[in-house]
Amino acid sequence: MIRYISELNREQLNGKKVLLRVDFNVALSQLPAVNNQPPTFKIAEGFRIKSHKETIDYLTGNDAKVMLVAHISQINSFLPIVENIGEILGQTLTLVPLEHISDSGKLFSASSVLLLDNIRQDSGEEKNSDELANKLVQGFDLYVNDAFSVSHRKHASVSAVAGKLPAYGGLLIKKEIEGLSKALNAPVQGKTVILGGAKIATKLPVIENFLDKAEKILVGGAIANNFFKANGINVGASLVDDGTLSIKNLDMNKIVLPVDALVSDDRTGNGNVRFVDLKKPDIAAQESILDIGKESIANFTEIIGLSKMVVWNGPMGLNEVERFKNGTNAVGVAVSKVGYSVIGGGDTVAALSEEIRSKFTFVSTGGGAMLDFLAGKPMPGLVALGYQE
Ligand code: ADP
Ligand code: MG
Repeated sequence: MIRYISELNREQLNGKKVLLRVDFNVALSQLPAVNNQPPTFKIAEGFRIKSHKETIDYLTGNDAKVMLVAHISQINSFLPIVENIGEILGQTLTLVPLEHISDSGKLFSASSVLLLDNIRQDSGEEKNSDELANKLVQGFDLYVNDAFSVSHRKHASVSAVAGKLPAYGGLLIKKEIEGLSKALNAPVQGKTVILGGAKIATKLPVIENFLDKAEKILVGGAIANNFFKANGINVGASLVDDGTLSIKNLDMNKIVLPVDALVSDDRTGNGNVRFVDLKKPDIAAQESILDIGKESIANFTEIIGLSKMVVWNGPMGLNEVERFKNGTNAVGVAVSKVGYSVIGGGDTVAALSEEIRSKFTFVSTGGGAMLDFLAGKPMPGLVALGYQE
C-alpha cells in the first residue's frame, strides 16, 4: 500500500525537510542568441511542471521545507529555466548545484524551496546507485515521489532513495494511479482504447493487456502500418516499426483498423496528397500513409460516440503537419465528449489545444510510464513506495 502525503497533517510536516522527486523534463524552445550571449531557452510546454503545483503547495502550505529533485534531457542544467519554472509554480526557487548534494539539507536558510540541479548529471542516477541515494537523503526527514512519469525507471532518485527515508506518494502520483486504475478496472462493456503514434514496441503490450479489458481497440497512426503490412498491404514509404511478427499472433476480434488513409509523396505537406481505400490499396513506392482517411474518421468517431469510457494514447497521423492532423483533431473532439476519458503521451497531449484538453476527464503526465501502467507492468518507482495492484 502506498502512503500518500494527504495522510500527513501540519504537525507531521511542520519544519520537516522533504526530498521531493518531480518531473520537470519538458520541451524547450531555444530563443535566438543576442550579442554573442549563450543561447537562452523558454519552456514550450509547462503542463508537467504545473501538475506538481498541488503537491508542492500542500507541503509548503504545511510549513515543510522542500528540495525538488528532477532531470532535464534537452539541456545540461536547469539554470536557464529555473526562473520560468518558479513562475509556473508560483514559488521562488533556489538552484542547488550537484556539488552541494550532500549538504543540501543545510541550505534551507536561504529559501524554503530548493531545486537540485539536473540529477542525471550524476552517472549514479540511471544506475540506481545506492551511494548516490545515500548522498541525496543526507539531512532529510521524508521522501516524496510525485514523478509518475519517471516511475517506470529504476533510477536512484526514484527507486533506491525510497528505502532510505519514510517514503510517500505525492498528490499527482495519487491522481495518476486512481485515474489509470479506473481505466483498467472499469467494465469491459462500453470501454474503448485508442492507440496511435509511432513506437509499436511500447504500444503492443497495452493492446495485449486490453484485449480482455476493453470492448474495442482502435489502432491508427504509424503503428497501424505494422498491421497493414502484416495483412500483406504494400505500404510504400510509410513509417513501419519492427514488431510485425508478434502482431500476427494477436486476436484481431476487438481490433479496429483504419479502412482508408491519406497518403503523400512528401512529409512536409507540400507534395501531392490523396486518399487510398485500404480494401483496394494502390500505394506507390514513394508514398507514405500520413493520416487516417475520412471513412476511418467516421468509423472511429461512431465507436467513440457509443463509448462510456475511452483511453487514448498516440496521434492518428503525422500531426505536426497541419495537412495530416485531421484524424487526430477529429478523434480529440470525439473523445472530449465521452463520459470518462483518459488521455496521455507526450506527443498526444502536445497535439491538442489547452481548450480541448480541459474537456478530458483525466490527462496523464506519463508517456512511457502511462503505457507501462496500462500494460500492467510493475513500475520500480511505485513498487519502491509499496504499490500493489
Ligand atoms: P506519444 O508521445 O503520444 O506516446 P508517440 O511518441 O508514440 O506518441 O508517437 C507520436 C509521433 O508519431 C508523432 O511525432 C507523429 O507525427 C508520429 N506519427 C503518427 N502517425 C504517423 C504516420 N502515419 N507517419 C509518420 N509519423 C506518424
Ligand atoms: Mg512521443
